[in-house]
Amino acid sequence: MANKSSGAGDTNESLDPISISEEQFDRAAAYVQGLKTGLVDFLKKPKRVNIVSFPVEMEDDSVQSFQGFRVQHNRVFGPGKGGIRYHPDVTMEEVISLAKLMTWKCALVNVPFGGAKGGVVCDTKKLSERELRRITRRYTSELYDELGPNQDIPAPDLYTNAQTMAWIFDTYDMLHPGYNNRPVVTGKPIEMGGTHGRHEATGNGCLFVTERFLARGLIPGRREVRGMRVAIQGFGDVGEVAANAFHRQGAKIVAVSDSRGGIFDEAGLDPEAVGRFKTEQGTVVGMPDTVTITNTELLEKECDILLPAALGNQIHAGNAANIQAKLVVEGANNPTTPRADRILQDRGIHVLPDILVNAGGVTVSYFEWVQNQVNESWDYDTTTEKMRAMVHAATDTVFDRWQNFPAGEDTGDDRVPDFRTVALVIAIERVAHATLMRGIWP
Ligand code: NAD
Repeated sequence: MANKSSGAGDTNESLDPISISEEQFDRAAAYVQGLKTGLVDFLKKPKRVNIVSFPVEMEDDSVQSFQGFRVQHNRVFGPGKGGIRYHPDVTMEEVISLAKLMTWKCALVNVPFGGAKGGVVCDTKKLSERELRRITRRYTSELYDELGPNQDIPAPDLYTNAQTMAWIFDTYDMLHPGYNNRPVVTGKPIEMGGTHGRHEATGNGCLFVTERFLARGLIPGRREVRGMRVAIQGFGDVGEVAANAFHRQGAKIVAVSDSRGGIFDEAGLDPEAVGRFKTEQGTVVGMPDTVTITNTELLEKECDILLPAALGNQIHAGNAANIQAKLVVEGANNPTTPRADRILQDRGIHVLPDILVNAGGVTVSYFEWVQNQVNESWDYDTTTEKMRAMVHAATDTVFDRWQNFPAGEDTGDDRVPDFRTVALVIAIERVAHATLMRGIWP
């Protein structure tokens, strides 16, 4: 979902999601030894793209047609896994690029899933709960056997939540009676087989990955988040939880935002109070004793950590030179464009990449899937600590590889690549290796 109001267009930078994901892939693939051309093509392209259109009866008795997508990019490591987003700007290209991201993310954290993603073109803010339920049920039934506990397992993403997942489960279960269908979807309500810690997983993971990078000495003199000034774009499932997680560790949350704008407080916001205000008012804007700012201003605020947790392409060629953070921590998927990556790297600003930073979500989704298979329920501390160990291990792998990376070898660029590229190198190597180990069929 390219934010067309971002100003990136002024720089003639392409925000086409496929081109962006291919540029990121090519940048990394240049460092992967012995990757055959045909294998590169296989890894770049989605395995299967489903496009569905369906009618839905609306509250006013009218009928509206909706379009949805479900893409399975790669299933070498296991069933497809990835969220479903509801947004008016969803496109097939965006869903394909996000499915690819899931392949690399799962491979990087060693979760035995492939990459998938889904989306429905709709504006949840203009739909009643009943309309949303009908859209969800019809979208799920159109996909029918494309989804499945060992086939492709959705989860929440932008503007979908535990309720959406409960409807997907129920619809799938109606269509496939007589089986344990709970593992068909993750991010379910706890009482329907959801797991403790899933709602908090992605935001908590953002903190755990950041803490590990700091502990490893990424920023000289800053070994922990305590005292660091953090600005967070997006105050939804990821942003709000991340705000609370960083705050609990002594960081100062100086700014947060949502789709309607942002708020700033030099003295630091209380994320719990902001959450209560947003629940009552529907937005963070207007929170007493705060200064109202725009989303553009939030991104360019002077701070230690900038944590985008909303849409893609928010940091682009048009604003990367104005980013004042020391560290960008990608809670959202694809928030930084390739040109912005270069600009930030030139300016000495590290970007901790989405496929690592927000991988806590899919990791705990995997725990939910495991629990559903054996009908167990693990407590919050169990899932959170297991997730912490897995994202720390992945962070160490990326950091070690980055520290020992042979700068510029065979690529014409004499710098050590950024963390996104290093993380992608590791993930691509793993998927490519597994593909060859399985043996190319027939
Ligand atoms: P969400 O729908 O719960 O929250 C999204 C937030 O972004 C809301 O506060 C919304 O108001 C805000 N927003 C929307 N448009 C905006 C705009 N133009 N400018 C600023 N803010 C805007 O979604 P989420 O689940 O928190 O997902 C956020 C991001 O994190 C997405 O990129 C998603 O793909 C990614 N992500 C989510 C998860 C997860 O577990 N939920 C996991 C991995 C990655």
